[in-house]
Amino acid sequence: MSKPLSRRSFVKHTLATGIPGTLALGTLGLNAAAEPAARPLQVVCVGAHPDDPESGCSGTLIRYAAQGHAVTVVYLTRGERGIPGKTNDEAAQIRSQEAAAACRIIGAQAVFAGQIDGAAEFTRPNVEKLGKILAEIQPDLVFAHWPIDTHMDHQAASLCAHRACQALTPKPRLYFFEVNTGSQSQGFTPNTYVDITAVVDKKKLALLAHVSQDGEGIWKQHHEVIADFRGREAGVKAAEAFVRLNREVQAAGLPGVR
Ligand SMILES: [Zn+2]
Repeated sequence: MSKPLSRRSFVKHTLATGIPGTLALGTLGLNAAAEPAARPLQVVCVGAHPDDPESGCSGTLIRYAAQGHAVTVVYLTRGERGIPGKTNDEAAQIRSQEAAAACRIIGAQAVFAGQIDGAAEFTRPNVEKLGKILAEIQPDLVFAHWPIDTHMDHQAASLCAHRACQALTPKPRLYFFEVNTGSQSQGFTPNTYVDITAVVDKKKLALLAHVSQDGEGIWKQHHEVIADFRGREAGVKAAEAFVRLNREVQAAGLPGVR
């Protein structure tokens, strides 16, 4: 390609063709061989609590980061109410450090959006606040919680992310991830899969960075099972699954990950 692609046309091209050569994140069983990216994509994941992004899509985020794309994890809250016996401030400090450690493993930058664990709200001011963070990053694609979930913080995070994305120009592609399907995410029927076989151990490490949350137990009870189950659906050993919102994208797969 002789003419450099603009940001929009690059993404459009990649999405439309799904062809590596520029970047096609492809479907599954993607090429391990690295091809230089035409332009690093800005990839953002918005999660309600520290450990949600790691649970839902850190395998995919690890793959993006490994290929030189810019990955940012926005934690809506610091998990202030997530450690019994600790004050909110103590828990926030511990869990922020755990989130930072997880992001180092992923290769992502951690950002905290200032809402409070157990009290996350879908309000205009909160959408605007998140929107400002996203506007600075100008994401090509955003991963957000699936909105039908037993945890209200997850629902609020999902809707805040969706509304904030709607206000961006150009609009990023939005993918919903699942967390603890079977006990939290409900009615989640994926239409997009990413092979995480090669990075599943690293995904586990990112979860284990959340020492205060019994990462090992959560991994065994939920995420190992889900990675295996989604892998079976997709015909690979381990996968992450998403619901893609954008109607114009019919091809399976995500842009940029090979
Ligand atoms: Zn959560």
